[in-house]
Amino acid sequence: MTITASTFREEAGRLQPKLVEIRRELHQHPELSQEEFETTRRIRGWLEEIDGIRILELGLKTGVVAEIEGAMPGPTIALRADIDALPVKEETGLPFSSTIPGKMHACGHDFHTASIIGAAALLQKQAPQLKGKIRLLFQPAEERAVGAAELIAAGALNGVDAVLGMHNKPELPVGTIGLRSGPLMASVDRFEISVSGKGGHAAIPDSAIDPVVVSSAIVTALQSLVSRNVSPLDSAVVSVCRLEAGSTWNVIPDSAILEGTVRTFQPETRERIPALMQRIAEGVAQGYGAAAELKWIPCIPAVNNHSEMTEIMRSAALAQGLNVVEAAPTMGGEDFSLYQEKVPGCFIWMGTSGTEEWHHPKFTLHEDALAVSAALFAEAAVLALASVQMK
Ligand SMILES: [Zn+2]
Ligand SMILES: [Zn+2]
Repeated sequence: MTITASTFREEAGRLQPKLVEIRRELHQHPELSQEEFETTRRIRGWLEEIDGIRILELGLKTGVVAEIEGAMPGPTIALRADIDALPVKEETGLPFSSTIPGKMHACGHDFHTASIIGAAALLQKQAPQLKGKIRLLFQPAEERAVGAAELIAAGALNGVDAVLGMHNKPELPVGTIGLRSGPLMASVDRFEISVSGKGGHAAIPDSAIDPVVVSSAIVTALQSLVSRNVSPLDSAVVSVCRLEAGSTWNVIPDSAILEGTVRTFQPETRERIPALMQRIAEGVAQGYGAAAELKWIPCIPAVNNHSEMTEIMRSAALAQGLNVVEAAPTMGGEDFSLYQEKVPGCFIWMGTSGTEEWHHPKFTLHEDALAVSAALFAEAAVLALASVQMK
């Protein structure tokens, strides 16, 4: 027997009530990044219900890694879902709203988790026909951008040849996916600039070096990074989000701190910015007789979709009768990018006919997208098994 696209579509339809049940149970019990203990326990339970799936014991505090073994040898394709929730007070009024005060699955990771459990059930059923393995990554702490690194450090990617993942997209209707080869989400980095001046009396500024004035000049000067140092054909964002100085109204403080984030798409741009930023901060400070020091805290690279994996996702979506649109990139970040640094990968937008944006207290999605995504990822995994080269 061979697997056809309709096999997954019909099976997913039958699974739909179970997927709704899974998603709602997760939705009612959201847990924050690195605290996903009950979520982990539940996911293990659901995977154990699917005969044949093997949970890999990697010593993770939270999160689950499991594997489906095909009857024949071949590559290993990873499917990734994130599992954490947010410190948001739910206001959807849904009958299955969060039961945990101040916490909510406001980014739809409950949906991602249920969908990939669905894909796992569909694939395990076809294990006798599969040539290769499917690695299932239920990743914790995406919202804090540390979970992917934890999984990689634990060996979750060992032996994996390619990786596929998604994020729900409220503005796309169910049945449509957003697809894009190349950069889809930006790199995320953090910076801190300490400015040292000389404190003094507010009324005697000539005997002081005012770090507030220096910091303001630095904030303004940093804006030229994007307009004058980044190619007009590339994109970047420099945002200073915290500026702290002084403790009262009539004393010029000694020092000030600026903190913010830089987002880029191209690795070359990302590499160039810290040195440019340092030159501007130090140069401006020097002009005022002050000093500035830059601390650069690299976080995550850009989500950059591999062309071959993108074509696999496109073929899978078309085989499943889905509508494929060119995905609009965003300057938001995703630690899925860390997997893509190791192996070719594709991250897509999954249409969920939502009403509000991610992280909103009234964020919702249409549950019909559950069976659609389960079938799509099962289909994509099978196509990837057939075309990805083993390392
Ligand atoms: Zn989020
Ligand atoms: Zn999210």
